[in-house]
Amino acid sequence: MLSRRLVKSTPTLRTMSYIPKNRLDGKVAVVTASTDGIGFAIAKRLAQEGAKVVISSRKQKNVDCAVEELKGQRLDVAGFVCHVGKEEDRKNLMQCANQTFGGIDILVSNAAANPAVGGVLDCEEAAWDKIFDTNVKASYLIAKEALPYIRKRGGGSIVFVSSIAGFQPFGLLGAYSVSKTALLGLTKAAAQQLSTECINVNCIAPGIIQTKFSAALTESPTAQEATLSQIPMGRLGEVDDISGVAAFLVSDDARYITGETIVAAGGMASRL
Ligand code: NAP
Repeated sequence: MLSRRLVKSTPTLRTMSYIPKNRLDGKVAVVTASTDGIGFAIAKRLAQEGAKVVISSRKQKNVDCAVEELKGQRLDVAGFVCHVGKEEDRKNLMQCANQTFGGIDILVSNAAANPAVGGVLDCEEAAWDKIFDTNVKASYLIAKEALPYIRKRGGGSIVFVSSIAGFQPFGLLGAYSVSKTALLGLTKAAAQQLSTECINVNCIAPGIIQTKFSAALTESPTAQEATLSQIPMGRLGEVDDISGVAAFLVSDDARYITGETIVAAGGMASRL
C-alpha cells in the first residue's frame, strides 16, 4: 500500500472520542480533496457513522490509496479523480457517485489552493486568480453540480471548509484569507436560497491543523512555538478535531442549523 503519512502529532488532552455508528445510515456523501489531511479524516468519519462515502482528489494513485485504506477498515467507500477546478471532473464525480451509490445526500467541499505567501496587496494577479478559482469559484460550482442530486433526495447537507484565516486574516496568507472569508458569505447566501428545501448549508473554519498544508506553520520548532503562542488551548489541531464537527453538521442533529460557520480552532480569535 502507498504511504500516506501525516506530519507528527502533538499530544492531546482527550484522545478518545465517541463515534455514533449509525447516525448517517442510508446517506451518501461526496467529499472533495479527501485523499489526505482534513478531507480524508472527514470521509473516514462519515463512513464510520454509516454513510456511503465518495472520496476524490486530483491524483488517481492518491484516490486508490485512500480507498484501499478505508475499505481495509470495512468502510463503504468508492473513489474517483476530481480536480475541483475542472468542469468535466466535477460532473463526472457526481455522476459516478450517483451511479455507484444511487444518489447524493451530502457534499463536503474541502479543496483549497494557496500558491502565494505574502500580504494581500503583494499578491500577483495570477496567484489571486488561482486562489479564488479553487477556493471560491470551484466551491460554488461543485455545490451547483451536487444540488440536483441532493434535491432529488428531498433534502440534504452542504458543508464548505473555510479557515480561521477567513475571520482573522493571516498576514502571510493575505489572498488565501480573503478567499476563505468569501466562503462565509457563500454559506450564508446558499443557506438562504435553499432554506425551504430541507437543504442545510454550513461551514467549518478550522484553526491550525497538522497536515501537509500547514507544514510551514508547524514543522520547525521556531515556527511551531510562534504558532502555538496564537492558540489559547496550547496545542495544534488534529484532523479529527474537524471530522466530528463535519459529521455533526451533516447529521440530523444539526437539522435546525443552516448558514452557520463553526470555528474549531482551540480558542483562536475568530470573529469578524
Ligand atoms: P492537505 O492535507 O494538504 O490535503 C490536501 C488534499 O486535497 C489532498 O487529498 C489533495 O490530493 C487534495 N487536493 C489538492 N488540490 C486539489 C484540487 N484542486 N482538487 C481536488 N483535490 C485537491 O490539506 P488540508 O490541510 O487537509 O486542507 C483541507 C482544507 O482545510 C482546505 O480547504 C484548507 O484551506 C482548509 N484548512 C486547513 C487548515 C490547516 O491548518 N491544515 C486550516 C484551516 C483550513 P491530490 O494531491 O491527489 O489532489
